[in-house]
Amino acid sequence: MTSDDLLARHRAVLPSWMPLYYAEPLELVAGSGRRVTDAQGRSYLDFFGGVLTNMIGYDIPEIREAVERQLRTGIVHSSTLYLIRQQVELAEKVARVSGIPDARVFFTNSGTEANEAALLFATNHRRSHQILAVRNSYHGRSYAAMGVTGNRSWSASALNPLQVAWLHSGDRLRGLLARLDPADRVEAAAEDLREVLATQTAGDVACLIAEPIQGVGGFVHGPDGLFAAWKKVLDEHGILLISDEVQTGWGRTGEHFWGYQAHGVTPDLLTFAKGIGNGFALAGVVGRADVLEAVPAISFSTFGGNPVSTAAGNAVLDYLLDHDLQANAARVGAILTDGLRAATADIDRVAEVRGKGLMLGVEFVRPGGTEPDPALTTRVFEACRAGGLLVGKGGLHGNVVRMGPPLTLTEDEAREGLAILVEAIRSCVAEAVAA
Ligand code: PMP
Repeated sequence: MTSDDLLARHRAVLPSWMPLYYAEPLELVAGSGRRVTDAQGRSYLDFFGGVLTNMIGYDIPEIREAVERQLRTGIVHSSTLYLIRQQVELAEKVARVSGIPDARVFFTNSGTEANEAALLFATNHRRSHQILAVRNSYHGRSYAAMGVTGNRSWSASALNPLQVAWLHSGDRLRGLLARLDPADRVEAAAEDLREVLATQTAGDVACLIAEPIQGVGGFVHGPDGLFAAWKKVLDEHGILLISDEVQTGWGRTGEHFWGYQAHGVTPDLLTFAKGIGNGFALAGVVGRADVLEAVPAISFSTFGGNPVSTAAGNAVLDYLLDHDLQANAARVGAILTDGLRAATADIDRVAEVRGKGLMLGVEFVRPGGTEPDPALTTRVFEACRAGGLLVGKGGLHGNVVRMGPPLTLTEDEAREGLAILVEAIRSCVAEAVAA
């Protein structure tokens, strides 16, 4: 069967609001290292890893063997009603690396569920369902996770189950704080928080949920220190901080293991997903014991922390610590960032190359300003594919090319992908100018 047949069947049976990337949608059938092959036999260097989900690479023996070992036992399911050795082991490791003292860990199957659980813990602990969230954020697709999602493209429900007040992001290009310099943006963000608390809430707010770098929002991030400025105000009111590390966790930003660490502050809860399973469904919440213990009734998960996913999770975490992939993310990420900045410095359609480590975004704008250019972005995105490179797209206006390759990316692969991307940008900008 060709991918065309599959696409027709996809369209007929899956809901129309499920977006598919690419004019000719991509069906991946094999992967090895940092490369994937599609159903037509074309090979690509993968700089997106299924939305920053492939952390280690494809078909990695250590991960395959850990999962196969568990499959051979015959115990695939289990439920949290039984003891699961690798779940306990992984929880111990996650608690240790979380940076949160005396932490507890609760495993889920997706980032959405992790945020849902974190909101449950925070609202129960604080006995309040008032939440602070950030404009342009993405936290998942469930009722509550969508309720704290500020990016309207991904927040379809008009009925928000929570009372949410919205803070400005630290975006450098758009929004109220954009034209301030970094030090002033931090102070302005704290003022914004104070003002929102005083004018839009009854004061007894449960938590602030925020991404250290907004992933779906286009890798937008405020200046370092932003979380610390917020936390100072939050602490005055006993409000909890949830750091959504679904995209920024596990060393991806190179400079730190968690995104929150750039801010010199420790959150009360952090949520993780994506990379820790390297493709297996594994996510969770790690945080202060007293907050996780606040759930008033017993709770349970059928698949959360199941033996297969946590076997993968242990292998992934061991691999990324043993091979110091955080350092590789910093080193190889710098090649990409420096190379991209140098190659696009004279292109006014590239408003910004931003991000940290192996989490990099390129924002495209119309000539002479900051008006988003999603059409140019799509052309670059398609040209990358034609050149053999998979990247992502994102941002509220769809005008950011996003990259989040496996953290095992080599320097040669970084240079290879960089050359394809730069050529795609140059040729698409030239076409746009000529048009
Ligand atoms: N939080 C963030 C920051 C995310 O990027 C995502 C997924 N894009 C989620 C939560 C939701 O994760 P999942 O898709 O696993 O439910």
